[in-house]
Amino acid sequence: MNQQKPIAWPVRIGDRLATAWAGRRIDYYDTIDSTNTVARRLGRLDPEIAPHGTLVVADEQTRGRGRMDRVWQSRPGEAALMSLLLRPAALAPADAVGIVLVTALAVCDACRSFGADALIKWPNDIVCGGKKICGMLLDMDADADRVRFAVVGVGLNISGYPSAEGLRHASCLNDAAGKVLDRADVIARFLAEFERRYDFWASGGDILPDYSARCVTLGSRVKVAGLMETFEGEALRVLPDGALMVRRDGGEETPVRAGDVSVRGVMDYI
Ligand code: ATP
Repeated sequence: MNQQKPIAWPVRIGDRLATAWAGRRIDYYDTIDSTNTVARRLGRLDPEIAPHGTLVVADEQTRGRGRMDRVWQSRPGEAALMSLLLRPAALAPADAVGIVLVTALAVCDACRSFGADALIKWPNDIVCGGKKICGMLLDMDADADRVRFAVVGVGLNISGYPSAEGLRHASCLNDAAGKVLDRADVIARFLAEFERRYDFWASGGDILPDYSARCVTLGSRVKVAGLMETFEGEALRVLPDGALMVRRDGGEETPVRAGDVSVRGVMDYI
């Protein structure tokens, strides 16, 4: 009897793809150090070999990274661990933060399309019911005035997450949606949302209104912990450069930039 080999699950992403360029090439790994690290390596290759929209996806990550040298934890098979390689036509490094906003919106809306009440915690976490289900990390390779390529990594908990002490505020998409989802479906939906929003943004569209409408941080009291100081205030709005405008208790408005700070709710994570 012919024993059919099971198809690796990322093949199913391809079957469900409704995009022109996002995820049209997929590099799949069982185990990898970090999808961002591999996507960066691909970024240095010829665009013919690793085109705009190449997706690196893994079942297991051994050195997942977060912002500011933090660790992204995951257990094999439970999460969408993926990085998209982007080759913007003409993008200044200071404007690359737009990619983070696009990605946050795309993950958020993909999760909402499966029934989860997902929102964005500024700048780039996705939360459901006050708990984090997804983190993101933007890496880039740039000259002084031009981004050569960018890599945006996404770690989205789907069926579970590690039960580590540091992850008291974690949850996963299945719990938030109240159903068991197929990783390939979720990734294909994310790619469709991403491509639509990226093309809109790259052609000069303003994504801030949609981002702000989904941003749970706005209007809340937050604690901003930076390298130099920690202060509390009210999160007012997101600025075109991606900074969060916070009104300090004394009334002074301070723009807070994502690279240097952690923002938490005063009472809890949000
Ligand atoms: P935060 O505001 O939550 O500290 P951040 O944007 O500064 O987020 P990230 O880069 O998104 O941090 O991710 C790293 C942090 O996310 C870790 O310090 C840890 O607290 C948390 N984390 C790590 N793995 C997971 C996971 N699988 N699910 C939820 N949270 C996680």
